[in-house]
Amino acid sequence: MNRPRKLLTQNREMKAIGVWNWTLPAWAGRLPDGRTYNTCPSAGICAQACYARHGTYTWPVVKAKHEANLTFLLDDPTGWENAILTELAAPKFRGGWIRIHDSGDFFTDSYLTAWLRICHARPDTMFYCYTKEIDRFRRLVEPNPPPNFLWVYSYGGTQDAALDPSTDRVADVFPDNDAVEAAGWNSQDESDLLAVLGPRLVGIPVNQIPHVRKLLGDRTFREWQHHVDSEREAQRRRRQFRLITNPADHRQAA
Ligand code: SF4
Repeated sequence: MNRPRKLLTQNREMKAIGVWNWTLPAWAGRLPDGRTYNTCPSAGICAQACYARHGTYTWPVVKAKHEANLTFLLDDPTGWENAILTELAAPKFRGGWIRIHDSGDFFTDSYLTAWLRICHARPDTMFYCYTKEIDRFRRLVEPNPPPNFLWVYSYGGTQDAALDPSTDRVADVFPDNDAVEAAGWNSQDESDLLAVLGPRLVGIPVNQIPHVRKLLGDRTFREWQHHVDSEREAQRRRRQFRLITNPADHRQAA
């Protein structure tokens, strides 16, 4: 099995704020051995605008590293957990921060639970994440979160409707920083850690990928997802109405 030598990495931007990353390949794809995966099962419109499916993330060496991370995790979850714990035992991680997922999300209950065990086992290190796995967090994390684990729910997923911005810590993607400010939300431009340490409503300017900027227009991810959800619901109702008023459709559909 192709085990990555180092599981936690750091780019220049993250190094400046004392953060290391654990990363999976974004969203859905196929591993070199032919297995398919979906590491972001609750991704909604964000998958169309995903920063991690463009640019450096698609470079063969980077992609191979992320796929090797996922392969290790899928093939040997216990070995993966032990390897992370061993790596985190190094003195440099004491007082440091780990961002769980530069891309990808907590795609199963058992994977999230493994991270909770890791947080408990390494209390001198802080962990944080963005996530769209709202139901999983409500069930498995919110009742008794490890004190060294912080998270922010991010808009643009299929579970957006479960978020309450008046009580939840939430992040939304805006057309630019002016739009973040105009909405009265708070930029995390200065440091990614502000997403979990700053004020609760976190505004992120959209990435510079031209087709993503075009798709987003002057909306936020939350508004875009809401539009898509409303359209789907309207279609569902129209179908239901047709079945009620014209049972022949139902027979055909059956
Ligand atoms: S959840 Fe994040 S990594 Fe996954 S598809 Fe959405 S933006 Fe990309």
